[in-house]
Amino acid sequence: MFPDPTDKISHLKPRPQIIPRSDHIISREAISENALKVLYRLKNSGYQSFLVGGSVRDLLLGREPKDFDVATNAHPEQIRELFRNCHLIGRRFRLAHVRFGNDIIEVSTFRTAHHVSDVEGRIVRDNVYGTIDDDVWRRDFTANALYYNIDDFSVVDYVGGMADIRAGVIRLIGDPELRYREDAVRLLRAVRFAVKLGFRIHADSERPIAKLALLLEEIPSARLFEEVLKLFLGGCAEQTFEALRHHGLFGALFPETEIVLGREESGFPQTLVIHALRDTDQRLAESRPVTPGFLLAALLWSPMRAQAADQVARGLAEPEALELAADAVISRQIARTAIPRRFTQMAREIWEFQPRLLRYMGKRPQRLLAHPRFRAAYDFLLLRNRAGEPLQELCEWWTAAQKDMPTNVVDAGAEDDDGEPPGTDADSGETPARPRRRRRRRSGRRGGKAK
Ligand code: ATP
Ligand code: MG
Repeated sequence: MFPDPTDKISHLKPRPQIIPRSDHIISREAISENALKVLYRLKNSGYQSFLVGGSVRDLLLGREPKDFDVATNAHPEQIRELFRNCHLIGRRFRLAHVRFGNDIIEVSTFRTAHHVSDVEGRIVRDNVYGTIDDDVWRRDFTANALYYNIDDFSVVDYVGGMADIRAGVIRLIGDPELRYREDAVRLLRAVRFAVKLGFRIHADSERPIAKLALLLEEIPSARLFEEVLKLFLGGCAEQTFEALRHHGLFGALFPETEIVLGREESGFPQTLVIHALRDTDQRLAESRPVTPGFLLAALLWSPMRAQAADQVARGLAEPEALELAADAVISRQIARTAIPRRFTQMAREIWEFQPRLLRYMGKRPQRLLAHPRFRAAYDFLLLRNRAGEPLQELCEWWTAAQKDMPTNVVDAGAEDDDGEPPGTDADSGETPARPRRRRRRRSGRRGGKAK
């Protein structure tokens, strides 16, 4: 029963609308077997058990959910007792992860909106357990706050989420400005969901966005990097980029890129980034691998180049200028979005390769062709050409060189001798980049594939 009848103030709270199975399209066939296992085990053990968040939203839209989140009144320790394959994680709030091979079902205990905030209104702790009618108010958007009840297959709607999904509206629950101040990542989430779902942001939720963009500076860089991956590797990178710029949020993520884009509206930089994002979307649509390293190289190319040009003007040789500029641009960027080293390293290598592609044209190209980073660097050269740099001849030359020497060509990242465990990167589905090798490697340090 909802709301909890033992809750003394429940009569003051809004009553939910219960949408019965006959009035919505969610079928158990569309829910993953593992999610159903978790939902039923909780229910059969006497707990309330709901599917919640993005999965309910996506099922109602007829889309395939990315993952399934479960909400329950069982406490984390009680959840752990029910599932052998269960880990408790998180500090700001404790969650249970129930693992089935590579598939993880996230199970969260109902919490109240009575979190601990700091003086600025930001949430610092969020661990007070409650009931479903407490839990709903801490969620971000109405479309994300619907609960699918495994007990009777109804959808529980406290916030008008169903109507907003039907109307294609992203709307914050409660006072928008307050909710953004609690957690500024919601600014990015509003834009991301609007683009991904083809929704519009409700005027009241949209109005404060640009004004509050600066709040993103306070978000830990690791969390911002996670968001960057979701923004640009979700399949709608190009549109998301446009929307982020439109709302004044892109500069909070990539400040140096934003400055350069602002300077050269119709020049190379903007089209290079757009081409790179479009290619990323295209590759994802074709289920081809993408790597954040390549995207990073594209996003920071213009600021890096501008700074390298400054160094050259001061008399530095090109390779040193490039290295200095790369160091500076990357170190400032990772202060904002904590990018793992394997990706920054890949961006560096792609950049360093660009002048080498020019120098080695017509000479002995075998060494470059055989380099594990050749493919990515060549793709980057094509990207620059498409974005308007006069590189057609060079591109054609390297395209032909690969045809002439096909056995020497190694795919980007195909060889991995950098000491990181080989294998695919979870975020990108592509083999991690390997660092530059400056120093000669001590013999016998490591066996393996390096020759
Ligand atoms: P996606 O399709 O990207 O997974 P999602 O809506 O499932 O979208 P998650 O980040 O997986 O998003 O979060 C699951 C749910 O948790 C959300 O639907 C929302 O109800 C709640 N939530 C997540 N992040 C926040 C936040 N920053 N503030 C409030 N609620 C949040
Ligand atoms: Mg989700």
